[in-house]
Amino acid sequence: MTPLPDSGVRPGAPSRRPPRSPALGPVVALLLAAVLLTACGPTATAEPAPPAALPTVPVITVTPAPSPTPTATPTPTLTPTPSPTPDPVVALQAVRANEIGWILVLEYHMIEEPEGRWSRTPDNFRADVERLIAEGYYPLNLIDLARGQIDVPAGKTPIVLTFDDSSSGQCRYLADGTVDPRSACGILLEMARLHPDDWRPRASFFILLDVDVPDRVIFGQPEFAEKKLQEMVAWGFEIGSHSYTHFRLDQGTVEEVHWQLAHSEARIESMVPGYEVSSLSIPLGMYPDDESLLYAGDSEEAHYDFEAAVEVAGGASPSPFSVNFDPYHIKRTQAIEDELTYWLTFFQENPEFRYISDGDPRTAAVPDVLPERLQGLLREDLPAGMVAIEYRAAP
Ligand SMILES: [Zn+2]
Repeated sequence: MTPLPDSGVRPGAPSRRPPRSPALGPVVALLLAAVLLTACGPTATAEPAPPAALPTVPVITVTPAPSPTPTATPTPTLTPTPSPTPDPVVALQAVRANEIGWILVLEYHMIEEPEGRWSRTPDNFRADVERLIAEGYYPLNLIDLARGQIDVPAGKTPIVLTFDDSSSGQCRYLADGTVDPRSACGILLEMARLHPDDWRPRASFFILLDVDVPDRVIFGQPEFAEKKLQEMVAWGFEIGSHSYTHFRLDQGTVEEVHWQLAHSEARIESMVPGYEVSSLSIPLGMYPDDESLLYAGDSEEAHYDFEAAVEVAGGASPSPFSVNFDPYHIKRTQAIEDELTYWLTFFQENPEFRYISDGDPRTAAVPDVLPERLQGLLREDLPAGMVAIEYRAAP
């Protein structure tokens, strides 16, 4: 079997694959080979198969409100009639809410010229964001996805933009201490200013604290390091750990893994008072044998605890309300032209697979008609305070 970039997406994989031009096949295979050979390449981790017996989920089924019975003789009145209470089913049908659909977690590396396997140019990055806005995507931080706190306007599809390795193009400051408008954070801030209803400053940056390449140590400008981290958090971005030194967690001793994770978290938190680091990008996607090492630990005086960890590949992520969602194995999509086009086209052609928000972060709204691959996946243990709603799908 020829592996495809989305082969790791199972069991969320589409039953109806979008058509792929035959000419693309070798390109994709080459890309995948490149990915596997490159430092930041993915590890193929198949998502756990769905349980044989699907759990029963307590679900509130909402039915359309009955149409009002007309009164025999309308009573003329001078007071204006109050507008009727909006029918919740109609509202859900209108946006085709589907909160068991898939979510893209995009993975960017360098934002710089020229375009390459690990680089997106500033112009292409801006075009990506413009395309996402035009196609109804709305950003959130990784930790909010992991926690199932999807606070996204009704009808929009959440998307997470992640950045690994903290190179300067991701967030560069000019000499006067203002943000370089050609760096990723400058572009993201500008998009939020230009499209206040359709975009906001959210993205997750997984940073390195000590590596041989100075450009990748906390975005490459030591004189601005603290100011940047503090401002990025204040704007709404998330700062996560990518270990202290881009360390292979699969090759370290328990003590080394503890040291890397504890000191990276402690160092970031020391630079951003009051901030708590909660997300981790696994360097090279190489997990330690004992994955419980990722959850929490101590080294010397430093402590860490992570609620979320991202992989380096895998395709679209299951909804956080799916039984297939694992917050320590969140799948990502490489933000390169082929992969982006593949998935954005897929969701345009197969909107029934797309997570579409009902606008209420306290409810998980799911239509009663779903593609087979999405059926029966709703978690029994939704985040505290959340209620599942099944509604009659729009005809
Ligand atoms: Zn990396």
